[in-house]
Amino acid sequence: MSRSFDVVVIGAGPAGYIAAIRAAQHGKTVACIDEWQNKDGKNAFGGTCLNAGCIPSKALLESSELYHKAGHEFKKHGIKTGNVEMDIAAMQKRRAGIVRQLTGGIAGLFKANKVEGLVGHGKLLKNKQVEFTPVKGDKEIIAAEHIILASGSAPIELPIAKFDDDRIIDSWGALELDAVPKTLGVVGAGVIGLELGSVWARLGADVTILEAMDDFLFMADRDVAKVAAGDFKKQGLDIKLGAKVSKATAGKRGVTVEYEDKDGAQSIEVEKLVVAVGRRPVTDGLFADDAGIQLDERGFIVVDDECRTRVKGVYAVGDCVRGPMLAHKGSEEGVMVADLIAGEVAEMNYDVIPSVLYTNPEIAWTGKTEEEVKKSGIAYKTGQFPFMASGRAKAMEQTSGFVKIISSKEDDEILGVHIVGPMAGELISEAVLALEFSASTEDIQRTIHAHPSLAEAVHEAALAVDNKALNFPNK
Ligand code: FAD
Ligand code: NAD
Repeated sequence: MSRSFDVVVIGAGPAGYIAAIRAAQHGKTVACIDEWQNKDGKNAFGGTCLNAGCIPSKALLESSELYHKAGHEFKKHGIKTGNVEMDIAAMQKRRAGIVRQLTGGIAGLFKANKVEGLVGHGKLLKNKQVEFTPVKGDKEIIAAEHIILASGSAPIELPIAKFDDDRIIDSWGALELDAVPKTLGVVGAGVIGLELGSVWARLGADVTILEAMDDFLFMADRDVAKVAAGDFKKQGLDIKLGAKVSKATAGKRGVTVEYEDKDGAQSIEVEKLVVAVGRRPVTDGLFADDAGIQLDERGFIVVDDECRTRVKGVYAVGDCVRGPMLAHKGSEEGVMVADLIAGEVAEMNYDVIPSVLYTNPEIAWTGKTEEEVKKSGIAYKTGQFPFMASGRAKAMEQTSGFVKIISSKEDDEILGVHIVGPMAGELISEAVLALEFSASTEDIQRTIHAHPSLAEAVHEAALAVDNKALNFPNK
C-alpha cells in the first residue's frame, strides 16, 4: 500500500523546510523531499541558502572582514598584531562546519516536529500524487491532500562563459575556493558579485567586476548607491559599468574575458572568473506534463498572491515563483501556505520585504526608493542622518554611510527606509516593523532608542525628516 500524507513538500530549502515544519505544527502529517547533494557527495537539507548561499557566504564575509580588520584597522585601536597570516584551509573548514551544523539542525527539527524527511527526487503527478525516487531504493508513489513545490533556483549560465567548475565558476564554486586567486573576474555587480567580490578582495585578490548596466546597484536608492560605489572603489574593487561581456575563454593559466564598453572592445586576463548574473527557477523534472502546472515566460511557476498554482491543493513558494529571490521571502511564503492549508487567514506583505547586501558598508532597505516615490507622484519629505555623527559608529571605526527615511508629506506615513553603513542588515528590522504597522515618522521620533547605539541613527533620521535632528545640523 502506498503512503499518504496531509502535506508533501518538494524541496527543503528555507521555503520548503519552513513550510513543512509549520504544517506539522498545525497537526498535519508531513513529508519533505529533497535531493540536494553537497560537493562531498553527501545529501543535506537546507537548499541553496544553507549549503551554498546565505550561510556560507556570510561565514566567509565575517572571516575575511576580520582578516582585513586585523591587517588594517587594529592599529587604530592601539592593537599590535605583528604579521597577520591567513589560513584559508582553516577558514574554509569553519565555513563547512557552520553549514554542517545548520543543515544537520534541520534534520533535527524535522524529527522534533515529526516531519518525515525524505532524501531523493520528488515529482508531482496528476491527482495530487508525488513520485518519490530515493537516493537508494525503489520509486514510490505518495498521495497527499496538499502539495507544496519549493524547488528553488540555480545560477544562470551564460552561453559565452559556460561553467567548467575550474576556471569559470558559479557562486557555489566561488565559496569553496581553496586558495586566494591573484586575480578574480566577476560578471555581474549584483548582490552575489559584490558580496563574493568583497570576500576575495579582502583576502588579497585583485577583483574586477564587469557589470552590463550603466547604473550601479540599479535597484537601490540612488543616494545609497553613490556612497556604496565610493566605498567599494576605496576598498579596491574595480567595478566596470556598462561592460557587456562577449566572450570568456578558459586556458591553462586563467581566463581571457572580452567585453565591450563605451570605449569599444576590451579584454582582461583573470585567474578565475565568477559568473553571477542572476538565478533561474529550478523546475526540471519537478512535475509531469499532465500535472496541470503552468510556467510563465521566464520559467517561474505561476501562482496567485497566496501561492496557489492552477491545480487545487498544489502550492508553490520561494525562488521558484515570482518575487525577490530571498530566503526570508520564501520562508514567509512557506508559513503563509501552511497556515492557509490549516484553514487560517494568512497573507504576505510583499511591499516591505527587506533587502540586505552584506558588504562593508552593509546596505539595507525596505519600502520604496526616493526615485519610486517621486515617480508615484506622492508628495514626500526625507531625512538623513550620517553615521559620521553617531558616537557608536565612531567607536566602531565605521562612520561611512547614513540612514535615510522617506515619508508622505500628507499623513507622515513612512514610505521607505534606506541604510548604508554598519549593521544596516540589523538596523533595517525596526524599519520593516514600522512599515508593517504603517507607522508614521513621528512614531519613530517618539520611540526611545538606547544610547549609544547605531539605532540612534534611525531615530535621528526620523527627526531629520521634520528638521528636528538633534545631533546633526538640519537642512
Ligand atoms: P533553495 O534554497 O534553492 O532550495 C530548494 C531545494 O529544493 C534544494 O535543496 C533542491 O535540491 C531541492 N529540489 C529542487 N527540485 C527538487 C526535486 N524535484 N526533488 C527534490 N528536491 C528538489 N538570500 C537571502 O535572503 N539572504 C542572503 O544573504 C542570501 N545570500 C545568498 C548568497 C548566495 C551565494 C546565493 C547563491 C544565494 C543567496 N541568497 C540569499 C538567496 C537564497 O539562497 C535563496 O533565495 C533561497 O535559498 C531560496 O530558498 P528556496 O527554498 O526557494 O530554494
Ligand atoms: P542579481 O540579479 O543580484 O545581479 C546580477 C547582475 O548581473 C545585475 O546587476 C545584472 O545587471 C548583471 N548582469 C546580467 N547579465 C550580465 C552580463 N551578461 N554581463 C554583465 N552583467 C550582467 O543576481 P545575483 O547577484 O546572481 O544573485 C542572484 C539572487 O540571489 C539575487 O536575486 C539575490 O536576491 C539573491 N542573493 C541575495 C543575497 C542577499 O540577500 N544578501 C546575497 C546573494 C544572493
